[in-house]
Amino acid sequence: MADVSIAGEVLATLTSMASTTKAVLEAVKTAKAKTKSSDTEQALSLAVDQIHSLQSSLFDAKEKALSIKAETLNLHAENLQLREENAKLRSEIAQLNEDIRRNDQGLTEREKYQPKQVGSAVVLVHSDTPGIFYCTACFETKGKAVPLNRLGKGPFSILGSYMCPGCQAVY
Ligand SMILES: [Zn+2]
Repeated sequence: MADVSIAGEVLATLTSMASTTKAVLEAVKTAKAKTKSSDTEQALSLAVDQIHSLQSSLFDAKEKALSIKAETLNLHAENLQLREENAKLRSEIAQLNEDIRRNDQGLTEREKYQPKQVGSAVVLVHSDTPGIFYCTACFETKGKAVPLNRLGKGPFSILGSYMCPGCQAVY
């Protein structure tokens, strides 16, 4: 906020100059009213005109300093807002990167399931647990690895040797 405080200092200086100028004007006006010499009165009239012009310049300068101060405050507010947006975007990017990383991990995990022919059916096996068969249908439709149950002798055993507890598919 350095620019704001500089603008404030300039404003204070200009205000102090304006009040001094006003005091000088009053003094000159008093002297002008009291003098008996017309030469002096004429010279003091000129001085009054010049002081008026000085006051007008001071007024303009104050207006400019005020607008610089307001503009600087706006810029600071805008800057703050941009910083917040930037921080938000950075955190969104971090979140997206994390999502991508997890997605990649998920894909790698998926690749560990490979199809295996069992009788006339195709099941899935995980490279870490080759003895367990997984339901192909559930894996494709729900993205879940559902281990198959081995069927004992029963009504379904003529259809296959394994059944999925998730979708009841028989393999
Ligand atoms: Zn299933």
